[in-house]
Amino acid sequence: MFSKVLCRLVPRTLSCIQRRTTPSLALPSRKLSIQASDLGVHNERAIGPVDVLSSEEQMLKDTVAKVAAEKVLPLVSKMDSESEMDPSVIQAMFDNGLMGVEIEAEYGGTDSSFFASILVIEELAKVDPSVSVMCDVHNTLINNIFRKYASQELKEKYLPQLATNMLGSFCLSEVESGSDAFAMKTAAVQKGDSFILNGTKMWISNSAEAGVFIVFANANPAAVS
Ligand SMILES: Cc1cc2nc3c(=O)[nH]c(=O)nc-3n(C[C@H](O)[C@H](O)[C@H](O)COP(=O)(O)OP(=O)(O)OC[C@H]3O[C@@H](n4cnc5c(N)ncnc54)[C@H](O)[C@@H]3O)c2cc1C
Repeated sequence: MFSKVLCRLVPRTLSCIQRRTTPSLALPSRKLSIQASDLGVHNERAIGPVDVLSSEEQMLKDTVAKVAAEKVLPLVSKMDSESEMDPSVIQAMFDNGLMGVEIEAEYGGTDSSFFASILVIEELAKVDPSVSVMCDVHNTLINNIFRKYASQELKEKYLPQLATNMLGSFCLSEVESGSDAFAMKTAAVQKGDSFILNGTKMWISNSAEAGVFIVFANANPAAVS
């Protein structure tokens, strides 16, 4: 099943990955005295043992488990055999507020914490790892790049859509460089007010369904040679 799951994530590129099982993840309990704000983390819970949830967190976990059981589970086999994400699953993620977990309320998001994102991603992964990665890339990469680094104009344009109906795609990896951003070959050449991108990306989740793409390219190749 794992190979089919990966094919659905990146349908055109991963056709020959061997079937294998995913190792279970055992996280140790942590007791830290620092607060998330010390680390510059937005609207975060105090960092405590990861296996002790507040009542709100437990409620979120239960809600996501219910959504996953009702909206995702019935479609897992079909999506795997077709190597495609069902549009109703993406819609269900948006309808239940699972795609704007950390996006501020003023932009229509859930205005919750990074830890809440992890709870959502973990619960979804129990039912379908592909749906979980779709949600993970969207929340922790795309949304957070817009939240932290976009201009006010771009935030106002994209965050309300990212919270409610537009899937995002994060385009870094390339066939020769993998995730090593310093070795990527895609170039960005400025022409007037625009940049012309020239290159090829690989293993890009959400690429078939996304409405916005963050594409990594090098505008100054001499700086890394
Ligand atoms: C399910 C799935 C979904 C994916 N979705 C996306 C996506 O949405 N967007 C995307 O861009 N890619 C995506 N990828 C691709 C992924 O991020 C990797 O690029 C790809 O798996 C291959 O990268 P790699 O061979 O460099 O291996 P990696 O596992 O990325 O790297 C190999 C090792 O090198 C280390 N390393 C990497 N760069 C450096 C460096 N500069 N200095 C020192 N050490 C370094 C890493 O820490 C790692 O230990 C996805 C992959 C999978 C399996």
